[in-house]
Amino acid sequence: MDSKSTIQSYFKQQKLLYGNELYLSGKLKYSDIEIPTSSKDNLEEYRISICLCKKCPLGDSRTNFVFGAGDPNADLLIIGEAPGEQEDLIGEALIGRAGKLLDDILRAIDKKRGEGVYVTNVLKCRPPSNRDPLPSEVDKCEPYLLEQIQKIQPKLIVALGRVAGKTLLKIDVPLKEMREKTHNYNGTPLRVTYHPAALLRNPNFKKPAWVDFQWIRDYLKN
Ligand code: URA
Repeated sequence: MDSKSTIQSYFKQQKLLYGNELYLSGKLKYSDIEIPTSSKDNLEEYRISICLCKKCPLGDSRTNFVFGAGDPNADLLIIGEAPGEQEDLIGEALIGRAGKLLDDILRAIDKKRGEGVYVTNVLKCRPPSNRDPLPSEVDKCEPYLLEQIQKIQPKLIVALGRVAGKTLLKIDVPLKEMREKTHNYNGTPLRVTYHPAALLRNPNFKKPAWVDFQWIRDYLKN
């Protein structure tokens, strides 16, 4: 680390530990010093600030708060529904068989988690027996997602499955009516496609899902 980075990192740490005002010889305040922060630091600081959340009862039943992971400057933000059993145990979004299939699909459009892609869920904690998120849970958790989007500034959001789509768009229609349309989620373009778990259950969905991901690939190239 060069000396400028060392000094910046020292001040950043002091700010995190002691708050907004630092007095050196009684004269210098943080407001006098410019401390650049990267989106990565921003997201990690944000994760730390919310990961003990108890705003809804899922905070008491979870094993891990699943914040999401990937490239903090991603063009593509993928949003699933909520952590399942494995995600709750490990603390990472969309792992397991459906997650592996998602990785394969991403590879097919020359994308990779962590490189231009960020993966998270609408809910950060697992609902019991993987039931659908309740509106009261979404109300409490959605502001976290909005803040993540604000920090990542993706070019495109892709919601996986009808539940994620209907929860974000506040419309209760079948998945086929949400697909192949560019929606607007608080200012960011959003597409809805099949959840990879649905593709595992019904391989007939693979063809239309591939149509969706080809569209996503082409959109991100422009
Ligand atoms: N696991 C997740 O993290 N999200 C889903 O939508 C499903 C399983």
